[in-house]
Amino acid sequence: MNLENKVAIVTGASRGIGKAIALKLAKDGADVVVTATTLETAQKTAKEIEAIGRKALPLAVNVADFSNVESLVASAFETFSKVDILVNNAGITKDNLLIRMTQEQWDDVLSVNLKGAFNCIRAIARKLMKQRSGKIINITSVVGIMGNAGQANYSASKAGVIGLTKSVARELASRNIQVNAVAPGFIDTDMTDAIPDDMRENLESSIPLGKIGSTDDIAAAVAFLASDESNYITGQVLNVDGGMIM
Ligand code: NAP
Repeated sequence: MNLENKVAIVTGASRGIGKAIALKLAKDGADVVVTATTLETAQKTAKEIEAIGRKALPLAVNVADFSNVESLVASAFETFSKVDILVNNAGITKDNLLIRMTQEQWDDVLSVNLKGAFNCIRAIARKLMKQRSGKIINITSVVGIMGNAGQANYSASKAGVIGLTKSVARELASRNIQVNAVAPGFIDTDMTDAIPDDMRENLESSIPLGKIGSTDDIAAAVAFLASDESNYITGQVLNVDGGMIM
């Protein structure tokens, strides 16, 4: 994808899918604002982006905190004068069966995964509207579409991200801003590391393409939605799941 002269913000870019997205956007030509919960880990990804030859701005941001997110957007515009691409990737899991799920587990997951995406979009929307251009890509999940036992909080947050994507796509379409979601299936990262081997094998056998996805598979889809090649696509959910939930 050609992302020359574009500026991107990627939340949760210290590791896993977010890091792969940040590096892919940089390889395709974008400068990247890299966020994580700590500055040190954001700086590590930023160094890798600079090694590719692009500019990077590492920032510590808790996406659940609106004032943190407002500072992130202000710093991005101060440094780069514009932002073309926002990738809402930061996410957490706190799994439990519904009958055991605590208020805290519910609130934490909804605050980061759903309110975090809202916060970032809310903080940047006026600026993108003024620019009359922008690409917002929200990372949801196949479980936001199909549900998953033990993940009522996570599935609800990801289903919420889909509703958010479609509503904001409608609101911002007249200003030439495209808003889409990518729904990964089962991707090899820290988040899925904890899954026991027997469950992993079961999951793998339910994937028509017969393998777990890589972070690069997700990054490629995000780069497409971030590029001008997808200018007539908005309000869509692109499943990148090896055919898992077709
Ligand atoms: P991961 O390896 O656990 O990485 C999560 C990232 O989010 C880290 O960079 C983390 O930063 C950041 N983060 C966590 N809480 C945050 C907060 N409050 N504010 C800002 N950043 C925060 O997860 P992943 O597997 O790459 O997942 C990335 C996204 O893809 C998530 O939205 C996840 O729900 C979604 N997804 C993943 C899969 C999968 O199979 N892996 C499937 C479907 C969807 P720190 O390093 O600072 O903690």
